Amino acid sequence: MLNENCGLFAVYHKDSSFNVSAQIIEGLIALQHRGQESAGIAVSNGENIQTYKGMGVVNDVFPKEVIKRIKGSFGIGHVKYSTNGFSNYANAEPLTVKYKGEFFSVAHNGQIENSAFLRDLFEEKGTIFFTTSDTELIPHLLVTNLKGAPSTWNPENIAKLIDKHISPSYSLLLLFKNKIIALRDRYGYRPLAICETDDAVYLASEDSAFKFFKLNNSKIREVEPGEMIEINSEGLKSYKINKNNKYRYCFFEHIYFARPDSNIYGDNVHLMREKLGELTAKEHPVEADIIVPVMDSGFSAALGYSKASGIPLELGLMRNKYIGRTFIDPDIQERKLSVRRKLSPVKEVIENKDIVLIDDSMVRGTTMKHIVKMLKENGAKKVHIRIASPMVVNTCYWGIDIPDKKDIIGANKSKEDIKRIVNADSLEFLSLQYLSNYLDVKVANYCFHCFQT
Ligand code: SF4
Repeated sequence: MLNENCGLFAVYHKDSSFNVSAQIIEGLIALQHRGQESAGIAVSNGENIQTYKGMGVVNDVFPKEVIKRIKGSFGIGHVKYSTNGFSNYANAEPLTVKYKGEFFSVAHNGQIENSAFLRDLFEEKGTIFFTTSDTELIPHLLVTNLKGAPSTWNPENIAKLIDKHISPSYSLLLLFKNKIIALRDRYGYRPLAICETDDAVYLASEDSAFKFFKLNNSKIREVEPGEMIEINSEGLKSYKINKNNKYRYCFFEHIYFARPDSNIYGDNVHLMREKLGELTAKEHPVEADIIVPVMDSGFSAALGYSKASGIPLELGLMRNKYIGRTFIDPDIQERKLSVRRKLSPVKEVIENKDIVLIDDSMVRGTTMKHIVKMLKENGAKKVHIRIASPMVVNTCYWGIDIPDKKDIIGANKSKEDIKRIVNADSLEFLSLQYLSNYLDVKVANYCFHCFQT
């Protein structure tokens, strides 16, 4: 399946004696679905920044004693899946650098579209890069254009510099010894939410990460596209750096990436997925005995399809939660085994049934082929596939790991061919037109590039 390329979390506590390390780690656990390759935190005590990061999932990266060692009242955290550069310790974030005697740190969710061009420019001037990550461009951009020590840099100048030179997509957190700066690109490709309480300010890629802290819903809002937020001992200031009002919210956040209990771009993710399932049922009805979701991400859409069609929803495929996602498997043979590890058929539910199999999306088609085979081997009479999103036909340049066009099944095969390849009895996708009609005016604010040729 596809991958997001990161989750961000930050806390600025107003009590300078409070240690935020544990809170940041808890926030990262809530965002673990956005990246499992590496995790890290950088924390300031007002004088110095300490960073701790490692490869793997949050629970494996941080030993308990970290929260005793890494102390400070404000800091940032990051979980990573790399779509740009390699998966290694050097690329793990936050990326902390030292300049003019001071540390500062960067954490990035997104993908800088002009990174190759910028890297060439810097290298021609003699800049040496220590990572292969596009995030490293940001500290280089700042130190070559701003004067003095990092803690003295004007936040508006920082944001304007990034807005001018760095192509979207980015939601960014910058940690200086005296402040946190949060910045979302002018199009808002990647989400970023904020909540200010009496005690602290929290930032997260998804607002569901605030639930652990029982934050007041009415105080949660999205950082606007083109908005920069500065948080320091004097409080919180917001600046609109770029007044562009044509946004390009990534619709795949709704389809697959975000947690169902998150609110993204003003809509609850579960309810949006349920609606996508309902729309798919209306556009592509079919007679069947049961609806079977591809767990977990297809569940909400399957519920919507079931409600709209009146066909009962059944747990025909059980998901083993204690393995990685199928994306860790680089070749098809392993992918096949991975599907078997991940999904297990419930023969007693599917035997002798006509099934509507619901999934959130289809990219390579290889996973679906193995699922259909598994259902039929376990007695399903017919398998009608309904995908609750438009057919993916293009790649993504803004931070989602959609493969090259040659590996996208919808870019190379007709719907009829795909149906034959995956051995389905019928196959339909929610059309972009049907989806657009539902989204109505909101459609102008979404990116649908990967669904368009
Ligand atoms: S191309 Fe697709 S995955 Fe990429 S930002 Fe746009 S909607 Fe999201």
